[in-house]
This record gives sequence, structure tokens and C-alpha cells, in this order.
Amino acid sequence: MKRFLLLFIGVLGIAYSSYAQPRPKLVVGIVVDQMRWDYLYRYYNHYGNDGFKRLMTGFNCQQAMINYLPSFTAPGHTCIYTGSVPAIHGIAGNEWFEDGKFVYCTDDKTVQPVGGSKKWGQMSPRNLLTTTVTDELRLATNFRSRTFGVSLKDRSSILPAGHLANGAYWFDDSTGNFFSSTYYGQALPQWLVDFNAKRLPDSLLSQDWVLRDELNAYKGSLPDNSRYEGKFSRDEPAVTFPHSAKYFMGKGDLKYNTLRKLPAGNWITLQLARACIRANELGTKADPDFLAVSLSATDYAAHQFGPNALEMEDIYIRLDDELAKFLRYLDKHVGAGEYTVFLTADHGAAHNADFLTDRNVPALNEYESTLRDELNYFLKRSTGKDTLIRSLENYQVYLSEMTGNDMAFDARFTLKMQIRALLERRPEVAYTIDMEMNGVNRAPEPIYTMAINGYYRPRSGAIQIIFKPGYYMGYAPTGTTHGTWNPYDTHIPLLFYGWGINHGETYREVHMTDIAATVAALLHIQMPNGCVGKVIEQVIR
Ligand code: ZN
Ligand code: ZN
Repeated sequence: MKRFLLLFIGVLGIAYSSYAQPRPKLVVGIVVDQMRWDYLYRYYNHYGNDGFKRLMTGFNCQQAMINYLPSFTAPGHTCIYTGSVPAIHGIAGNEWFEDGKFVYCTDDKTVQPVGGSKKWGQMSPRNLLTTTVTDELRLATNFRSRTFGVSLKDRSSILPAGHLANGAYWFDDSTGNFFSSTYYGQALPQWLVDFNAKRLPDSLLSQDWVLRDELNAYKGSLPDNSRYEGKFSRDEPAVTFPHSAKYFMGKGDLKYNTLRKLPAGNWITLQLARACIRANELGTKADPDFLAVSLSATDYAAHQFGPNALEMEDIYIRLDDELAKFLRYLDKHVGAGEYTVFLTADHGAAHNADFLTDRNVPALNEYESTLRDELNYFLKRSTGKDTLIRSLENYQVYLSEMTGNDMAFDARFTLKMQIRALLERRPEVAYTIDMEMNGVNRAPEPIYTMAINGYYRPRSGAIQIIFKPGYYMGYAPTGTTHGTWNPYDTHIPLLFYGWGINHGETYREVHMTDIAATVAALLHIQMPNGCVGKVIEQVIR
């Protein structure tokens, strides 16, 4: 009788499973901040077999391109998870000017920090105008699926996790803890309190950064003492290995900030991801869960050191190791073949401008404030007003308030024509686009469409500036930045791996907006409500 009963339950089990929705148990989205597509191959011979290369045995989209401007972190993460562009999802930059005020993308003064400092804690996804694929999963399963975001960067945790997230956690520079805001709940979960209690950042910031391997194993980097790299602190004698921990600990609100630029910044983020999976038993229930992980250290470090520094190669090979361990963790806790991973980037980056000009390649680093002040100086001579341009944030001209609604249309048009003429006379500018007069612009495709896709009227500047290739608005002569239309900023890796994923690759051009559409199709859920992407059908088995 007992045996019969077991057999009966077994048959029921088979019957039940054949009626369950065809879905993975867990989706893990991994965004490697500022990872240009070519880094898969630049360091290929220095990677092991179980990190990036394991993911590359899934499906590799070799020509995944960002299809909007500007190519910054917040629009990037938002696009990946919404399948949409700033013109529709509203995240027009990391920051913008709206109703005359400066706005940070995840600012929300209606919420309070939970478990961390006010300075970095009043954050939520309220400025995001569309749903995310994580939201759609929650809606599709009547909120049974659990969704979480983890990252050092607030915006890279909050925006992917969406409006309906069970939790989003980010790093507090002043306390060294991961924390959240009242948008998600009144207290941190106990597992995160326990995680913070280990005080990992204190021990991580007390260790020197040394090369993982012998120097001659690093084939993808410039010599260590190049002048294109920035220091951790003014006191650091040189930008060379080993980087002494005595320059790592900062002060006040930025006490733990340096963790963001170290390989340890990625390490601790993946530790947090594991803790989140373990505590919430993600991937063990009938409905799929979703964890959005964003690894920010690659971006902070490249801004400081530039893309060709030894530091970057060391960060990437160490990240490759950590990814291998993380995938093994998923094999063990969720089951090999039971989860789906995708790995991509929010944008790429330019070569350091001096590195190129030293080798006769056209490039230039123009400071935003210098260009703005010069434009305002010339405008004053013709108009008598000296602050007509508020900012050139996002490679866009934000006009100041006095040029708002009170200004006659004709006068505003004339002013914009004047600014465009000034800009187009400058050596760094290739084109300008009057975003309010879309019919009269000359920028070629795909630039023109990228500008249109990136323009959300209440939050974007009136004129889009298109620099020449290799030219950018950086913060320092060292390091690098991004934000432009050019392939180095917009060609991103896109790897799919695991449950439901084909083996193969395509060189067909696909767009960042296609990622959410493809993940939604894989999950058999509705696309996000602003999605303009298409399913990359070869990806799905
Ligand atoms: Zn970024
Ligand atoms: Zn960046």
C-alpha cells in the first residue's frame, strides 16, 4: 500500500510538473559597469575557463549596441531592465535639470534611509516612468516571485529592481554598510544586518592591492607607471603596484568610498548576492525569482586608471575568478541548468585622450565647465546676459531658467541658433542637434535616432552636442569616461547562459533594448510597459 501511495504521488508529481509554466527557477542579471565588449577578448587568454568563458558557451551576442544617448550608468541599467529608452522611461541621465532644479536619478525626498546615512539613503525608483522586467515578473506571478537588486551604486541596484522589488541594497560610503530606504520597508532584513555586522569593508580596506599574477602574465596593459592613471589620494607616491592600503581609508561621508575602486568592491557585491540568495532561498520555489546584480568597481576604477591600465586587467581577471565561484554557487544552491544568467554592461568607455594623441590619434578631453563658461562668455557679448547656459550635463545644453516659458519662441530659437553656431565653430564638435526643432538637423544615422531616443523633454537639454570620435568631456587628464554615441561607449557584451538558452553566437546587430524583451519571452511574461526592443530569437532554445 505504501509503495502504491509513493507511486501515486510520483505520478502526480510528473503530472504536476508537466503543467507548471516553463520557466527557470532563478534569473540572475549581471551588469558589469563600463565593460566594453572587447574586454571579453582583450583579456581572453588571461581568463580561466569557468567565469566569462563559461558564460560564453551559452549564447553570445557579439554586436549588442546601445541605441540612445547619453551612454551613462542610470540610463544603461534602466534600458537593460525596461527594454526602453530615455524618451520613454524618463531616466535621461545619472542626473538632469527638471523644473529648474538639479535632480539625481534616484533622488526621493519622500523616503528615509534604512540602516545607513541620510546623505546616500533618500533613494527610490520613483523617477522611473515604466515597468521593468523584474516588475513584470512580480505582476505575472501574482507577486509570488521575489525580486532583488544589489550593487555598490544606488542607481544600479534600485533601477534594475524596479517599482515592485522585494528589496534593493546599495553601499553607504559613510558607514561601510549595505543599506536601503523606506521605499522598500521600515527595517533592514536580519540577514543584511548580520552581513553588515561582519564589517568586511574594514578588513578589505586594510589590505594592499597587489597583482594576482606575475607581471609578465599581463599582456593587455600599458606599463604600470603610465601618466594616464589617477592616484587613490594626493599622498600616494605613484600609481603603481602594490597599492598600499594606507591610502584607502577616507574621511567623513566618503570614509569607505575607495572600496568602490578596488577588486574587493566586486568581491563584496557578489558576497552580498550570495547572502541574498541564501537568506531568501531564491530559486527554490515554484515560481522564478530574479536577482539583479551590478558590479560597479570596474567603472570606478576605469574612470581613475583609464581602460589600458594594469589595474584594469587585474580587476577583470579577479572578477573572472569571482564569477566562476558565483556560478558554482548557483549550481549548488539552485541547480545546474535550473537558472538563467545574462551578463552585459551599461556602457563602455573611451581610451584616455592623451594616450591617443601621444600616438597621433585624434582625441580631446574637454571639461564641461570650461566649455560652458566659454559659451556663456561669448553669449554675454551679444546678449548682455552671462549665464544663459546652465549646464552641459549629459552632452546637452541646458538653458537657464530665464530662457524658459517667459522667453518668446522666436527669441529662444535665435538663442539656440547662436549657441549651435558657437558650438559648431569649435574644434571638438562634429554636430549639434536642436532637440526642440527636430526637422532641421543634419546629424547622420544612427546618431540622429540615438539622440531622439535619448530626449525626454522635461529632463533633457535643448541642444544635443555630438563631439568628434575620441573627444569627450572628462573630469581629469587621467582615466577615462563615456556618454557619447561612439562604438567604444556603446558596444557592450551580451551573454546568455543556462536554463532555456541556446548554444551559439550571432553577429547580427541587436540593441540594449532587446535584452528585456528576450528575458520576458524566456520567462513567458509580458514585456515591460515601455519596451521597444525585440526578442533575440536565436538566444532561446
Ligand atoms: Zn556605468
Ligand atoms: Zn562611469
